[in-house]
Amino acid sequence: MRVRVAACLAVLGWPVFLFAQTPPAPNSHPTYVELRALAPDAEALQVKDLVLQKDAATFTLTGAVHLLPAVNGRLTGAVFVGQGTMKYEPPIAAERNMLRHLTRGEPFEETFERAVFRFTDDTAAQIKAAATGTSAGSPGDAKDALKDTNQALRMQLKDNLHARILHDVLSPALGRLFHAYITGKKYSNRMAYMMDPQGAGFVAPEEVQLFSWASNREGIFAGHHYSSVYAKRERVPTTAGAWIDIQHQQLSTEIDQGGEVIGSASTTFIAALDGLSAVPLSLFPTLRVSGVTDESGTALPFIQEDKDEDADFWVVLPKPLAKGERVTIRTTYKGKDAVTAEGNDNFYPVARTNWYPNNTGIKDYATYDMTFTVHKRMRLVATGDFVDEKVEGDRYVSRWKTDYPLSVAGFNLGLFKRDEGTIGDYTVIALANTLSSNMITSLSRQLPIGSYDTASANRLALSESQLAMQIFSDYFGPISLKRVHITQQTACNYGQAWPGVIYIPTCYYWSPTIRHQLGIEQTEGGYWDSVASHEVAHLWWGHAVGWNSYRDQWMSEGFSHLSASLFLQAAYPKEPQRFRNFWKAMLEQITEKNSQGYRPNDVGPLTQGYRLNSGRTGSVTSSLIYPKGAYVLHMLRMMMWNRDTGDATFKELLRDFIATHRNRPVTTEDFQAVVEKHMLPEMNLDGNGRMNWFFRQYVYGTALPTYKLEHSVASTGGQTVLNLKITQSGVSDGFKMLLPLYVELTDGRIVRLGSATMIGNKTIEQQVPLGQIPIKRALLNYYYDVLGLEER
Ligand SMILES: [Zn+2]
Repeated sequence: MRVRVAACLAVLGWPVFLFAQTPPAPNSHPTYVELRALAPDAEALQVKDLVLQKDAATFTLTGAVHLLPAVNGRLTGAVFVGQGTMKYEPPIAAERNMLRHLTRGEPFEETFERAVFRFTDDTAAQIKAAATGTSAGSPGDAKDALKDTNQALRMQLKDNLHARILHDVLSPALGRLFHAYITGKKYSNRMAYMMDPQGAGFVAPEEVQLFSWASNREGIFAGHHYSSVYAKRERVPTTAGAWIDIQHQQLSTEIDQGGEVIGSASTTFIAALDGLSAVPLSLFPTLRVSGVTDESGTALPFIQEDKDEDADFWVVLPKPLAKGERVTIRTTYKGKDAVTAEGNDNFYPVARTNWYPNNTGIKDYATYDMTFTVHKRMRLVATGDFVDEKVEGDRYVSRWKTDYPLSVAGFNLGLFKRDEGTIGDYTVIALANTLSSNMITSLSRQLPIGSYDTASANRLALSESQLAMQIFSDYFGPISLKRVHITQQTACNYGQAWPGVIYIPTCYYWSPTIRHQLGIEQTEGGYWDSVASHEVAHLWWGHAVGWNSYRDQWMSEGFSHLSASLFLQAAYPKEPQRFRNFWKAMLEQITEKNSQGYRPNDVGPLTQGYRLNSGRTGSVTSSLIYPKGAYVLHMLRMMMWNRDTGDATFKELLRDFIATHRNRPVTTEDFQAVVEKHMLPEMNLDGNGRMNWFFRQYVYGTALPTYKLEHSVASTGGQTVLNLKITQSGVSDGFKMLLPLYVELTDGRIVRLGSATMIGNKTIEQQVPLGQIPIKRALLNYYYDVLGLEER
């Protein structure tokens, strides 16, 4: 199906008279202009104890409501001045807990004297029906309140709400949007409660969120689906996107010596809702759109405000689409700063996922056909399969294409030295910059780092990546990509992965001695030895399978981190302590208090993802979703490990997971289902063939047990008997765990004895006859098999 569409596009081409007509100026759609300029009615409606029930929030208003004038016959807002309260109790426990971080433990009950409501639902009708009369109200206050909210949306939140409302005003479908901007008195004077069937901001595809942007209180303090979803126990399907599902992208991109991008994108998508009248696309704000056309070459109105303001890119369609209808639009754009020139033909692609018009906020798998043009002296590598390259005049042109969908497209460019190898079906190409970037040149003036030569590090990057590809193919099965580029990026201390293009941090290319001088030494978890393998692992975790929403992102980072531990275990067979040190470091990250006094594990579950960061709790996410996400998979690995078959069952589980969902986003529920398919009988602690006990405790929950082992070894008549006393504490009564037990033999070898099933806070005592095995001591949790603390 996708191949046919691509072929059609090639045949259609684009008419030469494309811009013979004058394209509409950005932001000039008359309805949009009208929405943007709305001011509240001078006259107000009087309300007394008016109750607006908006999902899990209850607003009670006594005072004056100034409606905003109708646009296209629709009322889209009201400003309230008076005495108001908002009570709110999210429908799920994890969200109630998160909200307590904002309210310091109290039930949420905010009071306010001003609020701006924006809506496309029936709020105006409710207000009118409840109004007890009209009055002069406080037109000045109402005007100021609206102005403040619009200013915050534009300059601070950088969210073009007017474009979002435009969609509903132009659509024949009924709108269901409701936003409340509240100047709260207790918790935050900059707070927004949002309901949007298309997904509420960051928490999309969830429809409800509460967030604050007041300083020291910023954060998303609640996010969830409509309460009815939980009441009915509905399973929310995996979606390609709330607005559109992009099928194919044909991208033509030119990058000049200064990093300026000149692009054109033909984007073929399917409408994901009935009455789709305008389409939001994610495009880096400095990439300024010069025009958008439909298949016939007709110019379409579009919205893109100033690059430093609410620059969201929206395209207004010529007519609303029905769900499932497919169209292609072509966008032309150009601008600086999406790719920055870092000196000596080193470039930094700043815009990671939106250097072309992309779907908003989610991983939308699409096929790509991309052509890139750079100066002939340079080389560019991109995601997907290499088609061809040529030099035309002083330009180097390369083409990259896939007939399988990719989660995202990316590239790297520069003047590279190249090392190449193969592993199985895969070609691995390592590319390091030939010359120093400005940052390295200036560092080398300040520090005695000697000459900067990336040659040996590039060979190391190649060999580590080859080994990683080999291990991960064995554990996780094949991926669609056949060619992987391991490339240097100018950022020092983090990497990133695209499908087939991996960015390795520039400081990887320095020797440990130089990194020592720079104060960026090896961590206990082995950062520099595992960063390449972590990024290679993203070819599976994040790309071969994506994530459906922020709730599922923990798997991408966590499983890539677990993969790094597999790499360390295989790459350094003579240094087994590296593996244990890695897990010890993971445990410390999860359980050591941050500067705000929070243990990351306590702030919230893995499924809150990046929302765990807030002004109250500090930066938590990276200390949680990487190490704890990894721990979840490590615990399963350890439970499934078998003396005779090793990781065989664990590999079957992961290969099945990838094969079942290949080139698609996955949910946490998808993962649990595959774990349940492969679980061993001893893991069936609930007796129902489900792994709810484990997911409830460690994925959706914040359980953290403490273990204590007391033991003695007795030897009578040449027979060894091990007396064990094991205590599990600090958990709820229903907490269950399979706790592995090891012994150290007198020759120093560590052998797994078996596991104890522990339920609740309790102590078990047991005598284990070991025959003639000479042992030195018993050990609990030797490989950090279970995420928990140890009491000595
Ligand atoms: Zn990562």
